Amino acid sequence: MSNVHAPVGVFDLFTVGIGPSSSHTVGPMKAAAAFAGALEQSGAIEHTATVRIEIFGSLAATGPGHGTFTAVLLGLTGARSDEITPEEVTSRLDEISRTGTVRLAGRQPISCRVEDFVLKPLTVHPRHPNALTFTASDSRGHELSTQTYLSIGGGFIVRDGADTAAATTPVPSAPHPFRTGAELLARCDDTGLSVSELMRANERASRTEAELRDGLRHIWEVMESSVHSAIGRTGVLPGGLGVRRRAAAWAARLADEDPHHDGEHWQQRVNLVALAVNEENASGGRVVTAPTNGAAGIVPAVLYYALHYTPAARTGGTGIRDSIVERFLLTAAAIGTLYKNNASISGAEVGCQGEVGSASSMAAAGLAEILGGTPRQVENAAEIAMEHNLGLTCDPIGGLVQVPCIERNAIGASKAINAARMALWGDGEHRVSLDQVIATMRDTGADMSHKYKETALGGLAVNVVEC
Ligand code: SF4
Repeated sequence: MSNVHAPVGVFDLFTVGIGPSSSHTVGPMKAAAAFAGALEQSGAIEHTATVRIEIFGSLAATGPGHGTFTAVLLGLTGARSDEITPEEVTSRLDEISRTGTVRLAGRQPISCRVEDFVLKPLTVHPRHPNALTFTASDSRGHELSTQTYLSIGGGFIVRDGADTAAATTPVPSAPHPFRTGAELLARCDDTGLSVSELMRANERASRTEAELRDGLRHIWEVMESSVHSAIGRTGVLPGGLGVRRRAAAWAARLADEDPHHDGEHWQQRVNLVALAVNEENASGGRVVTAPTNGAAGIVPAVLYYALHYTPAARTGGTGIRDSIVERFLLTAAAIGTLYKNNASISGAEVGCQGEVGSASSMAAAGLAEILGGTPRQVENAAEIAMEHNLGLTCDPIGGLVQVPCIERNAIGASKAINAARMALWGDGEHRVSLDQVIATMRDTGADMSHKYKETALGGLAVNVVEC
């Protein structure tokens, strides 16, 4: 298990990026951009003639399906995953492919093609299975700089050798720090704050109230725009598997149905949101990592449910709506930090339980908060959702984030809603704690064969014939 930690706040867990994978697309793009930026800062960029790129482990094994290699090319140009649009991705890659040239940090031209990348799928870095090494040299072949980066899940990257020991608290100077579920509950007991109020107070240590509220609303807006974009597309998803897009047809069908005379209406709406976000992700579109791209549909689907099918939502009004969005996301993020700091949200490290399981757990907690749950009921909801995702493997067919990923998000959202409802019918007392289930997820992931950890070497990836 990785010993890599990074600072975690709500805007670390929920970031805007492009699909299809936070660890295999967003992380590598950030790593390449960081390397190019460091060359620029040191002045070495002026002398750089070549950059050797070595890609290890899971990143090399499933790189083509995850867009890893093109993400690296884009990152070397200085592209930012939270800013670049899908249209810019296409045009920049077209230019690179046409010229065989990458402009390092947007300025220094070097010859660079995917065919030149050195792939080492069987070599696993001791700190994390997702690793890349960049080596810049001058025109005489003298090495100018070399650096390895680890893509540790959810779009987080860590420079190998960087001191991460200090980066273990939720938010710097947070007034109510917690690293475990037990500590979170103790802080809530001490202060009388709900989980979302406690998380809000921690976030306020590093930003104003207006910045926090604007940022949270922006996260929800991007989630909504992912849904709308997917609903506007038809045909099959890219990658060659021939997976049909369903969001547009489902949206049209739901529009024709009477919501008051169909008991399944809410379920189908939740399914639609989850599917739409993940279809958008699978097409390289813009989504919010929540906490990863592969699991990006669960939090928006359950938040959609909270905004439309809960007593709080029925009181109506923009203020209520914003309050639900903020409280939901803050609570979900509080739970996400526990997974990030005590286990992993990386499919390459612990399998899909770390991605879909963590997202389902976060969403369950968010919904329990909106349903009026106490901190113990919120913790219980998060625990139930993860307990029934334990052991979930990562076996994407063709290394593409499509099957089983897209439908799995809809199922993960349903589990989250059920977990929240079960927790609300209890009193918060329960046999298995969230900390115990997080530790179990971590240990199960450590025991899991590498075939089931984002390598596309086992499960559905080998038992379903690609054609
Ligand atoms: S199976 Fe799960 S962990 Fe693996 S790529 Fe799909 S969503 Fe991510």
